Amino acid sequence: MILVIGGDPAGRDVTLLEKRALSGQCVHDGCMLICGLNDVARAITNIEFLRTAGAIAGDVSVRYPYVMRNLEKILARLSQIL
Ligand SMILES: Cc1cc2nc3c(=O)[nH]c(=O)nc-3n(C[C@H](O)[C@H](O)[C@H](O)COP(=O)(O)OP(=O)(O)OC[C@H]3O[C@@H](n4cnc5c(N)ncnc54)[C@H](O)[C@@H]3O)c2cc1C
Repeated sequence: MILVIGGDPAGRDVTLLEKRALSGQCVHDGCMLICGLNDVARAITNIEFLRTAGAIAGDVSVRYPYVMRNLEKILARLSQIL
């Protein structure tokens, strides 16, 4: 973080250069994306456990393109908020 002390002409103008999109790697393709994918993986593991135990019938599969599309929407919203 950069803190500018003083609102005089010298301190008033702050220029931010960003070559891609605000919010950095963590939001766009790092921690947040991995957290979302982890949630899906954890849910599938739990469902598979219940299926093996006989509590759930049928096969379960991940709709990966759908998951990625939705995660990208959420990350774009997060980036706007940040
Ligand atoms: C898959 C993955 C998972 C991760 N998971 C975690 C986690 O769980 N916990 C954790 O703490 N960390 C995690 N990280 C690491 C975390 O994403 C980074 O440590 C963090 O994003 C670094 O922040 P930063 O602001 O230093 O750099 P960045 O987030 O990389 O931001 C640098 C910014 O500068 C811009 N930039 C670069 N060069 C220029 C240029 N020449 N001109 C203009 N703009 C430029 C880039 O576009 C970018 O927006 C993960 C990383 C990855 C890849």
